Amino acid sequence: MKEFDYVIIGGGCAGLSLAYELEINEKLKDKKLAIIEKRIEYKRDKTWSFWKVFNHNFDDCVIKSWNNFTINTSEASHELTNKKFPYQSIDSGKFYKKVNSKLSKNSNISFFKDLSEINSENSIIFNSIYEKELDKSELWQHFQGIEIETSNNIFDEKIVNLMDFNCDQRNEVHFFYTLPFSKNKALVETTWLSNLKDQSLKDYDLQLENYIKKNLGIKNYNINFTEKGAIPLFYPLFKNSNKVINIGSAGGMTRLSTGYTFLNIQEHSKYIVKNIENIEKLKIFNLGKKYRFLDKVFLRVLKRYPDKMPKIFFDMFKTSSTTIIKFLSNKSNTIEDINIISKMPKFIFLKALVN
Ligand SMILES: Cc1cc2nc3c(=O)[nH]c(=O)nc-3n(C[C@H](O)[C@H](O)[C@H](O)COP(=O)(O)OP(=O)(O)OC[C@H]3O[C@@H](n4cnc5c(N)ncnc54)[C@H](O)[C@@H]3O)c2cc1C
Repeated sequence: MKEFDYVIIGGGCAGLSLAYELEINEKLKDKKLAIIEKRIEYKRDKTWSFWKVFNHNFDDCVIKSWNNFTINTSEASHELTNKKFPYQSIDSGKFYKKVNSKLSKNSNISFFKDLSEINSENSIIFNSIYEKELDKSELWQHFQGIEIETSNNIFDEKIVNLMDFNCDQRNEVHFFYTLPFSKNKALVETTWLSNLKDQSLKDYDLQLENYIKKNLGIKNYNINFTEKGAIPLFYPLFKNSNKVINIGSAGGMTRLSTGYTFLNIQEHSKYIVKNIENIEKLKIFNLGKKYRFLDKVFLRVLKRYPDKMPKIFFDMFKTSSTTIIKFLSNKSNTIEDINIISKMPKFIFLKALVN
């Protein structure tokens, strides 16, 4: 069986981002890479959005960038503007096409469907798949989004609505998210923060239909695209070894309080490629102890007081746009952290901190 220097298990966002980063930095001229991916075809399946707090390789896959965003509850709405760090959405279909077209030009890169097809005994393995099914009773961010198109111009294409809590909460945390790609096209998502066991929350089609009709006031529309997903808001325990480096969601690249992962994957890929020559001795990359700690306390509060979360999220955004963007993108300094923490209700956070 064929041997490889590097093996990437899972050719999704993290696997392909890493392969692309290796390729453009000419690390695969005399090294062989195997990508193990089970899917039969690549097509648009996700929309990755984030604040662009540093440069990445995929500007040409961006559907749209915005400088304005809002958050609202049933009582109030708050708008923020930021020119320095735009909010961007990436079309996964364009991303897969771009990366796969680049990788296909290098004969040192091969795709396989299963790890058993190669000899990986002496390879350095980058793994982006989970060892076993994750616990459904833990906290997840689960959602469904539809890209809708209307015949009239309805959306304000300059403003992203990040969180709209003006909806049925059902004793959990629930909000809608609207990304206007143009005046008549937008991705609308229903998002829940809850366990994954409760089937009663998964009537996503109906939730979207009601929201689009009642809140957005749109009666007629076509659905161009649907995405559905569940992001674990906990880090699964993994066996770490210097021969297997976990990447992507499986490698802890999700920010637990938000579900944002895409840009962390890009940062991790850059870190790996920069250190590829001594990768086996490398310190495991993580998003920072500070954020792990703060998110743990935050999620404890979220689990105990779901009814308070719309106001807590809303108040969190009552700071400068740069502060909140840097905080949510794991790039904040101590002063910015204090600024955010000061917006939180002291008593319940202290209680969550103690136990
Ligand atoms: C619908 C959706 C929307 C999201 N939107 C955002 C967003 O807006 N912003 C953001 O920052 N994050 C977002 N995320 C979170 C995160 O960025 C994505 O989940 C991202 O795709 C994670 O990359 P990954 O490589 O870890 O996992 P994936 O992209 O899922 O890649 C894993 C790959 O492994 C393959 N695979 C699985 N099992 C096997 C196996 N046994 N053998 C071989 N191959 C296997 C899969 O087919 C897949 O291609 C979203 C997630 C989802 C599901």
